[in-house]
Amino acid sequence: MNKEQLISALSRLIGEEHVLPDEPMSGHTSFRIGGPADFFLEPKQKAQLAGLLRLLEEERIPYFIMGNGSNLLVADEGYRGAVIRIGKNMGHAEVRGDQITAECGALLSGISALASANSLTGFEFAGGIPGTLGGACVMNAGAYGGEMKQVLREVTVLDEKREIRVLKNEELELAYRSSIFMRTPLIALEAKIQLAHGDREAIEGLCADLRERRQSKQPLDLPSAGSTFKRPEGYFAGKLIMDAGLRGYRVGGAMVSEKHCGFIVNAGGATARDVRELISAVQARVFELYGVALETEIRMLGAEP
Ligand SMILES: Cc1cc2nc3c(=O)[nH]c(=O)nc-3n(C[C@H](O)[C@H](O)[C@H](O)COP(=O)(O)OP(=O)(O)OC[C@H]3O[C@@H](n4cnc5c(N)ncnc54)[C@H](O)[C@@H]3O)c2cc1C
Repeated sequence: MNKEQLISALSRLIGEEHVLPDEPMSGHTSFRIGGPADFFLEPKQKAQLAGLLRLLEEERIPYFIMGNGSNLLVADEGYRGAVIRIGKNMGHAEVRGDQITAECGALLSGISALASANSLTGFEFAGGIPGTLGGACVMNAGAYGGEMKQVLREVTVLDEKREIRVLKNEELELAYRSSIFMRTPLIALEAKIQLAHGDREAIEGLCADLRERRQSKQPLDLPSAGSTFKRPEGYFAGKLIMDAGLRGYRVGGAMVSEKHCGFIVNAGGATARDVRELISAVQARVFELYGVALETEIRMLGAEP
């Protein structure tokens, strides 16, 4: 199939308006960085995914699954393949007793609001994390002492044989910013979140308090992908970077945030290359001074130049 024929075939599967050829990824990532993906696809329902994957595999088109793009650095050259976004089209969430069942395109902020409105406690930590439920399962996202591992009961996935399976919490291999999704090509479709009945006022108070802490500590006014580095055992990445004298250090448009040194921000016109070079410079300096190897938390997409 040539590109035109493939676009037609994809459009027949998920609708023309959900197939964007040569789509700049800078418009779909919180970093506001990234060249074009050959195809940007936003299926409307879970049921369309298996057919979509079959077609891409037949045509030998590599694919990448994304959520809200809040933990992604996409290469300036973009991605030679199809980016499939599990986003708001697959974002239904509902409450049953003390559980929330949600599709993986649902935003954590929405799930947190739903939990508060139903006096369910346990999800307050996640309300300010700007990702989808799927991205949070993959990353075992966490903040302020909470993490997905504490609340995920099970996740329904599409596996590499395009079969639907339900993985229980213990099978998800959840650890600090890590999960089975990083080792196995699984697509998270839906998850059950186990919460507890609580006091609505106290839940809303805690959410507001955490929001306030985020606002005051994090550079939310500039594009970023959150904490650039994982927390090294026994240290805080931001403190090491600050102590190394790198606050405000720049490569091109990429800068170590002046507000929180654990964040690399796009201070204006940053390229992925700028961010990569800045990451390497920070890693080298911190290692030289403190012997600590900083590992990136953000996920990279697209070939290294
Ligand atoms: C301002 C800011 C603050 C942040 N604060 C925090 C924080 O406090 N704690 C924290 O943990 N993170 C934080 N982050 C990072 C980010 O929001 C989380 O990692 C989030 O879980 C990513 O979700 P996403 O939907 O944006 O995933 P994406 O960035 O789109 O993708 C992340 C990874 O998940 C995979 N993925 C996404 N959806 C699926 C799916 N349905 N199935 C299979 N794979 C999938 C992608 O392939 C990729 O590998 C912050 C980011 C920003 C910009």
